[in-house]
Amino acid sequence: MRPNNCRAASPDAAVFPEARRGAATLPYISEGTEPAFPPKFGEVFAPFVELAGSCRHLIGAEAGSFWVGDRRYTIPRFTFLGPPTAVPQKRIGLFALIHGDEPAGAYALLKLLQTLADQPALAAGYDLICYPVCNPTGHEDATRHNRAGRDLNREFWRGSGQPEVIILERELATQGFDGIVALHADDASDGLYGYAHGRVLNENLLVPALRASERVLPRNCGCVIDGFRAADGIIGDCFTGVLAPPPAQKPRPFEIIFETPARALLEEQVAAAAIALETILTEYRGFIAYAADL
Ligand SMILES: [Zn+2]
Repeated sequence: MRPNNCRAASPDAAVFPEARRGAATLPYISEGTEPAFPPKFGEVFAPFVELAGSCRHLIGAEAGSFWVGDRRYTIPRFTFLGPPTAVPQKRIGLFALIHGDEPAGAYALLKLLQTLADQPALAAGYDLICYPVCNPTGHEDATRHNRAGRDLNREFWRGSGQPEVIILERELATQGFDGIVALHADDASDGLYGYAHGRVLNENLLVPALRASERVLPRNCGCVIDGFRAADGIIGDCFTGVLAPPPAQKPRPFEIIFETPARALLEEQVAAAAIALETILTEYRGFIAYAADL
């Protein structure tokens, strides 16, 4: 039987047993080889591994790995299995650090998972598939682009040869997501905003998410944001090539891009993005329940 509270669980569900040898010994390091996880990657990655080691609901795995020079880099995947309900689990993909210099999203995913570890019922009906570090070389270099100089968020579903995009496209094509949220931070914005991709469902999830996260940071109410027309912090249009569900996937999952102001305090960005994620989950559950009653 599953415990109600993950913090009290024994660590036997850890999926990265190597990581439990201590923070100095990160996963996939074997004797005499170059570490797969550079130290900076470990700062973000290690707390997820630690949580997976103590939370029965959280499964750590590798979405894929690739070589750059003599180093191997991994895109990790952490899946939180929420308590089942009367309807099939909804699978939600949560993505962060697609741009390597935007760490708030990764810490927001950690904050969300820590909350869910204490209160798994908040994730009832959901399997949350989290990708906290989508651009490991960019994160290591503190750059928006990956080490090949590419903006990964312009490369999706366009035949990209970038390994990060190939790995993530495979995840998007095989995980069967019912919804995806990509977390970003914008250093040109003084407030929170999001992309709804011109769909009503996305907007119906984004509006309450922005309203709730405004408790922490202001919303960007400009009429032009990131070069697009905006209203109340919501942009309907979008760049091409952003991380998105496969073009042919039907029915379309909901898809939201949530942006925090990168110049704000990291803690505030993390808190705002975590509140937004929790709100989206709550609102989508209401939408599913309503649709089931129709
Ligand atoms: Zn970004």
